[in-house]
Amino acid sequence: MSNYNPKSLKAEEFISHEEILETIEYAEKNKHNVELIDQILNKARPQKTEHGVHCEGLTHREASVLLACDIPEKVEEMYKLANEIKQAFYGNRIVMFAPLYLSNYCVNGCVYCPYHMKNKHIKRIKLTQDQIRDEVIALQDMGHKRLAIEAGEDPVHNSIEYILDSIKTIYSIQHKNGAIRRVNVNIAATTVENYRKLKEAGIGTYILFQETYNKKSYLELHPTGPKHDYDYHTEAMDRAMEGGIDDVGLGVLFGLEGYQYEFAGLMMHAEHLEAVHGVGPHTISVPRVKHADDIDPEAFDNSLDDEIFEKIVACIRIAVPYTGMIISTRESQEVREKMLHLGVSQISGASRTSVGGYTEEERPHDSEQFDVSDQRTLDEVVNWLMELGYIPSFCTACYREGRTGDRFMSLCKTGQIQNCCHPNALMTLCEFLVDYASEDTKKIGFDLIEKELNKIPNAKAQQIARDNVDAIKSSNRRDF
Ligand code: SAM
Repeated sequence: MSNYNPKSLKAEEFISHEEILETIEYAEKNKHNVELIDQILNKARPQKTEHGVHCEGLTHREASVLLACDIPEKVEEMYKLANEIKQAFYGNRIVMFAPLYLSNYCVNGCVYCPYHMKNKHIKRIKLTQDQIRDEVIALQDMGHKRLAIEAGEDPVHNSIEYILDSIKTIYSIQHKNGAIRRVNVNIAATTVENYRKLKEAGIGTYILFQETYNKKSYLELHPTGPKHDYDYHTEAMDRAMEGGIDDVGLGVLFGLEGYQYEFAGLMMHAEHLEAVHGVGPHTISVPRVKHADDIDPEAFDNSLDDEIFEKIVACIRIAVPYTGMIISTRESQEVREKMLHLGVSQISGASRTSVGGYTEEERPHDSEQFDVSDQRTLDEVVNWLMELGYIPSFCTACYREGRTGDRFMSLCKTGQIQNCCHPNALMTLCEFLVDYASEDTKKIGFDLIEKELNKIPNAKAQQIARDNVDAIKSSNRRDF
């Protein structure tokens, strides 16, 4: 008998190993059951309601059946549906961000991560507040407004006070065209009290990758250090919610374990957050393990080929329609392009994964966390997105206006995103073009904005957006 209980606060019950194994078996048994697959696809389709569009989402079992299905026409249908769902809630906007590595000191022994304590040939660096200021200015000079701070786990070097000071420093920097507007945080699992402090410091999303949901593998992959505690790590999002953080970001490091297991675990984690806290994950990230100092990804025999990876992204999009999906520069331009069509709504650009990397002339490799595949500049990424018909967005208005957690979800669910997020995306893109873009990017961008303004359904909202775009162009702006 499975001990599965999504409402439980115990990791072993909301991520029940038995339930995951049964789910994989059920999915395998039904992977060619066309009648069931059609039922699942129909359940997931966007439905028109009096308030806009509604999507039901899927259970972990249903989503796992789609993932297992290898009938080419059905897979095509899934990809089409994933794109349709993305269009319904996120339109063609892509939110831009960059990671900022604060410190690579770490006391853990994670076998896939070059920060592991025993790695003696990686250069250990912890940025001072002055160095953080320089890094942030370098990021602002590219046009970034949204950062994700990253740090290894080290209670002495990277204490919560250091993280809080760093956030304060980042928000305080007024440089040329305004401040960083949103700081998301990716630091090790911590206490309710510390999550409360992060909330008070004004963070956006708290991001923590599970790495793997399989407890046995987890214990082997994290043999030493505080991260070894699987339950403490897996229950972190509940503590974060208890501490008042209502936007949390999930993710697994694909390649460490069998992807079917991770996928079912991820879906169950999302169901658990919804069942207990009334709001699912704000984002899901889909990192794949990469080559890094002291790390050979070949050492993990669960690496995913691009085709399976595409199917995972599409199935996540279909199963949790209101959750943002993030893809980093671990992936190449080619892979990122495919993922955009399948449901990814947030990407990083011009990332450097080395501590202090943004202030260096050349991309440094001696303190890097992993190899970056997509090494283009932010201007090149923005240009590329617009050529593909997407609107790169630097908007952070929801967060500043307190639309987090269930309030953001209700904006999404009532279809108001087209009258709200779409104009904000256009205005913040316009700011980027005026302040930072190359001539070619400006030209493509201003044409795109003109075309997209016409698509804002509400006439009043359209006029306001038009006036604001004109004001930005004539350098008379306020914060969006
Ligand atoms: N130290 C924090 C923690 O323990 O969760 C997180 C910060 S770490 C800088 C961010 C993430 O990078 C990790 O959660 C892990 O998934 C990912 N990562 C580590 N090694 C990697 C590798 N070789 N390739 C790709 N991603 C990796």
